[in-house]
Amino acid sequence: MSQARTFHIGPIRPPSEAESLLLQVTRGCTWNKCRFCNLYRDTRFKAYSADEVKRDIDVIASYAEEIRGYLHGLQWDLDGLNERLASIPDDEQRQCFYMVARWLLGGGETVFLQDGNTTALSSGRLSDVLIYLKKTFPQIRRITSYGRAEELSRHDADYFAELKEAGLDRIHSGFETGSDRVLELIHKGTTSDHEIRAGKNIRAGGIELSIYFMPGIGGKELSEENAEGTARVLNEAEPDFIRIRTGAVKPGTELYDDYLQGRFSLCSDDDKVREIRRVIELTPKAGTRLVSDHMVNLLQDIEGCLGLERDRRRMLGRIDEYMELPETDRRVFQLLRRTLRAYDLDDMKRLSEAEMGQLREAVAAPTDRQWDEKMNGYISRFI
Ligand code: SF4
Repeated sequence: MSQARTFHIGPIRPPSEAESLLLQVTRGCTWNKCRFCNLYRDTRFKAYSADEVKRDIDVIASYAEEIRGYLHGLQWDLDGLNERLASIPDDEQRQCFYMVARWLLGGGETVFLQDGNTTALSSGRLSDVLIYLKKTFPQIRRITSYGRAEELSRHDADYFAELKEAGLDRIHSGFETGSDRVLELIHKGTTSDHEIRAGKNIRAGGIELSIYFMPGIGGKELSEENAEGTARVLNEAEPDFIRIRTGAVKPGTELYDDYLQGRFSLCSDDDKVREIRRVIELTPKAGTRLVSDHMVNLLQDIEGCLGLERDRRRMLGRIDEYMELPETDRRVFQLLRRTLRAYDLDDMKRLSEAEMGQLREAVAAPTDRQWDEKMNGYISRFI
């Protein structure tokens, strides 16, 4: 294969896009200044031209054609595919082949446009790419992308309607919080007004909006405010989804330096759970679905529609079940979660008294600060 048979692939995508084809239309982030994020610090932002992206789509199509040769009736020749994959000497080309194969084996119906802020592009350029993509792969039924709230707020509903018409179905946006004080603290470069305006226009344009909320990212001092501001934005903008991404302060970020210098105090896992509870309490009429689709979340089974009484009762009940545990058992559960030994509280209930006794001993010694730091360290490893 020639060197030309590669296409750009960026570093991240939402967990809900795990099955999606990743297509890079921009590289890096236009902002790159959030104090908790160093993902693109060494990457200079680049917007690929429509022609460059179309060339990538052509390369993907050529892989797809080859890979479909391994489909016999309804049966994939997996041995043949694995052999072919192993025979590709170039790492980058092997990664491209693997991505397209995995995508097609999963149905080949969803695409995620990378990187951090695709909507920095004009609607014309993005539409051009979207139309070409759908024409090349008519089986696609969902295309999604990331957008920054401040950038999104600059566009009116017509911009989003044009993108919807061209094929964009959902925008993921890391709002992180709806509190202006927290937004300022983390240097998000956006305000709650931007978030609300963006949310309303995106939905008016017919595109789904999926926002991210980071419990704990305001630190102990702004913990309540983090929840209350976020609930306000939810009630006003009514995104389709709010996805929980438990906040952690990662070494190598400015927020971590703040922590080391004593300017930022870590929230405990319990503080973060209380924030989620508060958001649910304050949004009884929102048509938003709360999703907890990431292993960084302590209570990953808290999911449901905020405006549905039955879902609300279940989510709040599950939170209360956790919060009513003795403190030592809450620590045991945190440790089990953070070390991937439990998915939910039921897993902990299945442990024997002897196992629980050992774990209780192991978690009893650290001070609150030591414990919060330890849990923060575990969570940081996942992001
Ligand atoms: S906008 Fe997103 S990608 Fe860019 S610096 Fe902030 S968190 Fe990181």
